[in-house]
Amino acid sequence: MAEAGSFADRVKQQADIVRVVGEYVRLKKSGQNFTGLCPFHAEKSPSFAVHPTKQIYHCFGCGVGGDVFKFVMEMEKCAFPEAIRIVAEKCGIAVPRQKERSPEERKENQQRSVLVEMHREVQTFFVKQLEGTLEGKAARAYLEDRGLDKDAISQFGIGYAPSGGDALLRHLKSKYNEKLLVESGLVSRDQSAGRLFDRFRRRITFPISNESGKIVAFGARALGDDMPKYLNSPETPIYSKSNVLYHMDRAKDALRRQDFAILVEGYMDAIAVARAGISNVVASCGTSLAEPQIKLLQRFTKRVVVNYDPDTAGQAATERSLSLLLEHDFEVRVLALPPVGDKKADPDLFIRERGKEEYLKLLKEAPPYVDYLIARARQMDLTTGEGKLRAVNFLLPYVQKIPNRILRSEWATRISQQLRLDEPVLRAALSKAAAERRSEVKTQPELAGRAAKPVERRLIRMLAEAEGFRLELAKHLQNAHLYHGLETEKIFAALVIASLSGQPVLATEVGAVLEDRDRRLLFEILFEEANEPTWEEAMSCIEALQNRQAKRELADVQRSIEANPAAPELRGLLEKKQELMRRLAADR
Ligand SMILES: [Zn+2]
Repeated sequence: MAEAGSFADRVKQQADIVRVVGEYVRLKKSGQNFTGLCPFHAEKSPSFAVHPTKQIYHCFGCGVGGDVFKFVMEMEKCAFPEAIRIVAEKCGIAVPRQKERSPEERKENQQRSVLVEMHREVQTFFVKQLEGTLEGKAARAYLEDRGLDKDAISQFGIGYAPSGGDALLRHLKSKYNEKLLVESGLVSRDQSAGRLFDRFRRRITFPISNESGKIVAFGARALGDDMPKYLNSPETPIYSKSNVLYHMDRAKDALRRQDFAILVEGYMDAIAVARAGISNVVASCGTSLAEPQIKLLQRFTKRVVVNYDPDTAGQAATERSLSLLLEHDFEVRVLALPPVGDKKADPDLFIRERGKEEYLKLLKEAPPYVDYLIARARQMDLTTGEGKLRAVNFLLPYVQKIPNRILRSEWATRISQQLRLDEPVLRAALSKAAAERRSEVKTQPELAGRAAKPVERRLIRMLAEAEGFRLELAKHLQNAHLYHGLETEKIFAALVIASLSGQPVLATEVGAVLEDRDRRLLFEILFEEANEPTWEEAMSCIEALQNRQAKRELADVQRSIEANPAAPELRGLLEKKQELMRRLAADR
């Protein structure tokens, strides 16, 4: 909980939940709320809502809900302090230096900022090498040959790592100690002699930036036939391959605007596509996509066109990435470029040879992933039962990963038709795969049956909102024991206690003391469209509750009378009955 006056509390006051959630979920204004597709369960129509004034979110489908911190904790799978920091950063609130950090943590942070600074310096060094040396001249000629002119070189910060073997080392040595140099991954240590040398030699360098645009690593392509052709920075304290997408820092706006991403393999491809005027391109910079990269991407869009290399490795990478994207409920298309002449074409080669118009045209026509997969399956031998089984087994895992049941079943039918599966066994396997999906989120059955009576809902809403007469109302409800025995009793109790405290009543704090099912109901009620509460309305709701209470008591009295008409207390019961009936009549 955010304690009043704490940093967390200040962040919560200043943070706009709509903006923060909006970085993860595409939200549309709908009445007083914002709605979108729930990021926590698979769905096709939006049941996820964000309340801009109460600063809470709630999903009517799977029932999740909370405040901005809870949301970030769930999305980023992080702890509360980390969530505060993330929200603060997103909202441009300066995070105070934490005194309570351990010395190790402080040292690590310091080391990370030194490494970032070092990478910035190294970037300047590489650029100078490309611009001002003889070796660099040869590299420039190579780049020009690849269609990368001066503009492109400066736009993407392309540089050159000289062949000497210690040029960078000599440049850095005076400023950084050996341990740090090795930790940066830019300098390696010779295992036998213990000597230091540059990791990148005689290579074109490409700075790799994290999402916020800080250079955290380098990719490097051999200028000659040196192996490997591509060499990247190793994992370091500031760089983890699976957390970074190349070009993400520059693609963000375009991703939001266009609402889809083109996913390519390497930085040369990303640069080629971006140079063709298509900025919403990112590269996985590895053989296939990793889970954290998908998490990063889905903050901006859930639609992807995968455009990997057409070679065997690229195909395998495409298929692995597809699996992962499908699991995360992405809408995926696959662009498989046709060969150029007799050469298999990656995006870079294709755009250079055939031009950007042709690429754009194919991009627009890129088929849904299932067509791509079926096409791949059809390349298998489908004349025998065995071959068909192999094709089905190739497709089954993908079908099973589709979160939406209806879509799964549609694809199953389509696959059967396309592969001409007449065998009942194969059809059955497909239908079974289509029907099953373990991780599928079902609407909680308990939610369906919980629809509190309108009067209760209205009073709950007033307790949460009516600043003017909340305290009065809470006293009334409590003194007359009006909510006892109601389905919503616990919600009332929590709200009444909060109201009687005289402090502002915060939905998330009341929600925090409730059981999950009650918290869900409370949030549901808070998201309903409703008019400004008035005292008159409150009073008529209270009357209605009193009325119901009287009716319940009357029924009890009547039962007691009928059960034992000769009891000594009959007289008292009859009097009570008279009184209740008078009360009910007066209400009418
Ligand atoms: Zn949900």
